[in-house]
Amino acid sequence: MSEKVLCLIIGGGPAGYTAGIYAARAGLFPVIYEGMQPGGQLTITSEVENFPGYPNGESGPVIVEDIKQQAVRVGAEIRQGEITEADFSVRPFRLVVDYEKEIFAETVIIATGATARWLGLESESQYRGFGVSTCATCDGAFFKNKTVAVIGGGDTALEEAHYLSKIATKVYLIHRRNQFRASKAMQDKIFNTPNIEVIFDAIPTEVLGEKQGFMRKLTGLQIQNKISEKITHLELDGIFVAIGVTPVTELFAGQIDLDAQGYIKTEGARPLTNIPGVFAAGDVQDPYYRQACTAAASGCKAAIEAERFLAETN
Ligand code: NDP
Repeated sequence: MSEKVLCLIIGGGPAGYTAGIYAARAGLFPVIYEGMQPGGQLTITSEVENFPGYPNGESGPVIVEDIKQQAVRVGAEIRQGEITEADFSVRPFRLVVDYEKEIFAETVIIATGATARWLGLESESQYRGFGVSTCATCDGAFFKNKTVAVIGGGDTALEEAHYLSKIATKVYLIHRRNQFRASKAMQDKIFNTPNIEVIFDAIPTEVLGEKQGFMRKLTGLQIQNKISEKITHLELDGIFVAIGVTPVTELFAGQIDLDAQGYIKTEGARPLTNIPGVFAAGDVQDPYYRQACTAAASGCKAAIEAERFLAETN
């Protein structure tokens, strides 16, 4: 059985829920599908000190649940489920939930976010949450006076290494080439921080650790020099993988204009996509700021655009 809605929001993170708050208050009766990871990247963030309104800091899951509850209170309908098909060729747009339920939407806000990239090692997946992380600002505090490694050569990796150097005793920064792609200013900071040791031309080949039942204790990382092929074991307490994120846009490729990295292209500061009536908010269209706060702000903008679009076209 199909259903008609004025505003369908795809993705339950700060962008999607905030879009829901604004769309509900504007009388668009928004329906939000939360997708595979309700709450988005904030759910893997332990302590957030930079989201406005929480003077003492708060955990990521609590903040995102608060935004969600605010959306519910003002009238957004939040549903579990994943959009598995999208056809933006004619309005109302046709979307399919979990391969079966059909929904026709007058406007769509895409807020599917981005997911951290992983190295893809079997041992890496075994130690996720047991010393392997993709977020230094979330998990760094667990490594006070310990030894950690950051993997990657972009601005994120260098920022994370610098952040961790203030917490950990020693930080190895491991990069697969002999040149960083991060900004010069960031590189200068790294080379001037005494407890950061840069290892170039190094490919991580295995996360090392001890297993006891369901418990895991990370003990190090095996790396291989790309040129000499020499293998080295680093003794570590934690590993931070910072090799970029991937926007969740696969479903929209071919219909919505994406940039070379797969991010949805929007029009300058406005969340407009190439399809009138389809808007994009949050990390799915933001390779640059990637903050919960900026995601929420763009969700707000997208809902305002949806409201104006409906007023002009209906
Ligand atoms: P980037 O794509 O810039 O960098 C990813 C890094 O990971 C690269 O050095 C890449 O190596 C390395 N890498 C990728 N895949 C692998 C792999 N499988 N194994 C090992 N290494 C790998 O991502 P970032 O998240 O760092 O940055 C994304 C964007 O956000 C950039 O434009 C950046 O400038 C921006 N940004 C800006 C900040 C700021 O201005 N304050 C802060 C953070 C991000 P290689 O270099 O060999 O390709």
